[in-house]
Formats: sequence, C-alpha cells, structure tokens
Amino acid sequence: MILFPDMYVKNAYELPYEEMHARGFSGIIFDIDNTVAPDNGPADDKCRQLFAKLSKMGYKTMILSNNDEPRVKSFADDVGCDYVFKAAKPSREGYAKAVKKLGMKKDRVFMVGDQIFTDILGAKRSGIFAVMAGKLYWKERAHIYLKRILELPVMAAYFISNAVSHFGAKQH
Ligand SMILES: [Mg+2]
Repeated sequence: MILFPDMYVKNAYELPYEEMHARGFSGIIFDIDNTVAPDNGPADDKCRQLFAKLSKMGYKTMILSNNDEPRVKSFADDVGCDYVFKAAKPSREGYAKAVKKLGMKKDRVFMVGDQIFTDILGAKRSGIFAVMAGKLYWKERAHIYLKRILELPVMAAYFISNAVSHFGAKQH
C-alpha cells in the first residue's frame, strides 16, 4: 500500500538511528515542520543536537520541505545541513534532487516525515524507505490540520494491518 510508511516511530527523536545505520543507511532526508521542529518554528537545542549526533554517527542529512526558502534555509543553516525548498511533496522531483545532493544511492537513504499525503507518499513513489514520525506538537496551520483528518483512516488501516501481520507471524 503506497500510503503506508515502511516504519512508524513515536517521533523523530525516538528513531533507532544507530540500528538504521548498521542496516546500511547513511543518508537521511528530513521534513522540518512538526517532524523535527514546531510548525513554522525555529530549531532548538534538542534539534541541533540531533543533527550533530547524526553526523557524528556517519550520516549525511538533508532537508526536504514544501515551505519557502527563507524558512528552510535558516533552519538548515542552523542545524548545519543542505536543503531543498518548495519541494512540492509528494512530487518525486524534490526527492530526486535531495538524493542527488546527498550523492548516494537512494537505497542507502531514508526519509523522515510527519505527513502521509506529502512526506510518506512522495518517498514511497520515489522508492525511498519512508519513516513516519508522529507529530511533535499539536499546534499547526489549518491546511495541515485538515489533512490530519484525512490521514486518520489510513493510519487506522496501517496499524490494523501491522497488528494482523504481527498476530499472523506469531501463529507459526
Ligand atoms: Mg511536516
């Protein structure tokens, strides 16, 4: 199912980055808003520490955002990585640009985002491993809030199908 993430984590700060690195991933494409920072808000210390920790681990990181350049650039500069702005996610174009900038094969890259119909769908369409991170904050712009309502049945189906396959696996 193209709308289902390959992995779900409570939030981007609780992703098993070490484990993913050991699995062969070395590039990460991040959404900003409500994935690693508040919607339209600046990076905080926790956020800066995350990016520093990832680069120490050996990851190359990239920002992929539908937001405009001033917001995306100032955030990317703050955490110290490159960026693609006005990405028009779920369009594949921005993902291709981001992977090219990372300079590695896309099977070594995973994407972390909080929205199904932009972040996850775009990654899946691009053949990039998609990690859905639960949103960090409740406050967000109205158009995003509307998409949350549309996400509900998809996430419900995702969790049900995971529960079923987990249960099925236990039977063997
Ligand atoms: Mg977002």
